[in-house]
Amino acid sequence: TSASTRAAEAFAPTPERPVPAVLGADLKVPVKGGRLVSYANLDYAASAPCLEPVSAAVAAALPAYSSVHRGAGYASQLTTARYEQARHTVSAFAGARPGDAVIFTRNTTDATNLLARCLPEGTTTVVFDTEHHASLLPWPRSVRLAPPAFPGEAVRAADETLAAIDGPKLLVVTAASNVTGELWPIAALAHIAHRHGARILVDAAQLAPHRRLNLTALDLDYVAFSGHKLYAPFGAGVLIGRRDWLAEAEPYLKGGGAVRSVAGGVEWHDDPEPRHEAGTPNVLGAIALAAACDALSATGWTPLVREEERLIARLRAGLASIEGVRELSLWGDDHPRVGIVSFTVEGRAAREVAEVLSGEYGIGVRDGKFCAHPFVRHLLGTENGLPDGGCEDGAASAVRASIGIGTTQEHVDRLIDALRDLTAR
Ligand code: PLP
Repeated sequence: TSASTRAAEAFAPTPERPVPAVLGADLKVPVKGGRLVSYANLDYAASAPCLEPVSAAVAAALPAYSSVHRGAGYASQLTTARYEQARHTVSAFAGARPGDAVIFTRNTTDATNLLARCLPEGTTTVVFDTEHHASLLPWPRSVRLAPPAFPGEAVRAADETLAAIDGPKLLVVTAASNVTGELWPIAALAHIAHRHGARILVDAAQLAPHRRLNLTALDLDYVAFSGHKLYAPFGAGVLIGRRDWLAEAEPYLKGGGAVRSVAGGVEWHDDPEPRHEAGTPNVLGAIALAAACDALSATGWTPLVREEERLIARLRAGLASIEGVRELSLWGDDHPRVGIVSFTVEGRAAREVAEVLSGEYGIGVRDGKFCAHPFVRHLLGTENGLPDGGCEDGAASAVRASIGIGTTQEHVDRLIDALRDLTAR
């Protein structure tokens, strides 16, 4: 099948069920003057609120939890079964191939670092400067590519660069940018990578909460994502993908669980799952992550994507209507994106804007460079001609609003009204 057919299959609609509620939807926060207002959480790209079914799954697991894998007691067996079921659920959610390794990690950063430690000797990693630091920095030997001017240029740059590299190679690319929300042509990039005998790791931290992920249909070698961006609490993420590099590498952590026997020497487990999951795992985190996957799959992507697209279109149209507010984008207004928008406000530091939105309007956004310094610097430099004064310099930062399940039209309208007020001051 062609890359475009695979991409179409990957985003095919699934059956619809009611959209689950998020916890904290009725949270009230203090604003200037001591008033309490309902919290408009527009910071989902950093960490999304917990879904009710996720909270229920954790509550159900809490009364009878015990150590996994090595305990003979009933609670141990039950907890082990729940932990291993969580692995299956997350694997199915990601559309993994039968036999793919599913390793629970702390988060996406931990997952990319795990893969970086498991690369065959001499592997060259090819990575775009548009990446989040979690996918930009872990690689022992990397070639960095400039932000491409359009999607086809990303494919061309990967093609030329991979062709010129000898030995093992890995292409790393994010599926949806945490800065602009723009979707990357991952099926085409996977196709190119494989043509050059390279593998591809997709950072799905921002795709997984917004679109169906299908590792098999997209023909990806590895994916990584985090529970806390996917409506589960903090502390559990996942690396999914081909077993061989993971099975052959030194254990990521050395200790109990990773080891088969310690007699004269040390014999590590061959299977990647115990091999790279030494120590007592974050069982409740895995159960929570799996419950979020279940809840999203049961709802189906059609209603989620439909509502997100409606709200993000409203938000972007609102931003475009305010003089002095400029949205950041790499590939232009019409390129498809998930519910993430970054923008600048002329004459105002991003930190000031974020503080006013919180302190006066009860709106939570993020400001800064979003752990993607080269990319944000590129976007600001080319679009605004602003100086880059260092990481936390407000003049070289942007404001990010990001949405998901639980975002309402009132939240979006409140942000637009607040920005209109602020720019008119
Ligand atoms: N990759 C992308 C695209 C992200 O947006 C993030 C989080 O901000 C990460 C990786 C890192 O995720 P975590 O902080 O959960 O490791």
